[in-house]
Amino acid sequence: MKQQDNERTFKDLVCGMEVSRMTAVEEYGYQGKTYYFCSQACRETFEAEPEKYLRQHRQHGLKQK
Ligand SMILES: [Zn+2]
Repeated sequence: MKQQDNERTFKDLVCGMEVSRMTAVEEYGYQGKTYYFCSQACRETFEAEPEKYLRQHRQHGLKQK
C-alpha cells in the first residue's frame, strides 16, 4: 500500500518532536528541503541558526576533521 504523504512524520529539529504535515504548525524551506515545526517559536529558532540544527542532525558517525 502506498503511504500517504500526510502521514509522513518529520522531526522538529529544534525540540525533537515528531510532526507531520497535518500536525505541523510551521514550515520552513531551506536549501531545497522543507522542514516542519510544532510551533512558530521553533521555526523562528531554526530560521535564526539553521546550520546549527542541521549539523546536530547529521551526527551519524561521520568523521570530520
Ligand atoms: Zn518544536
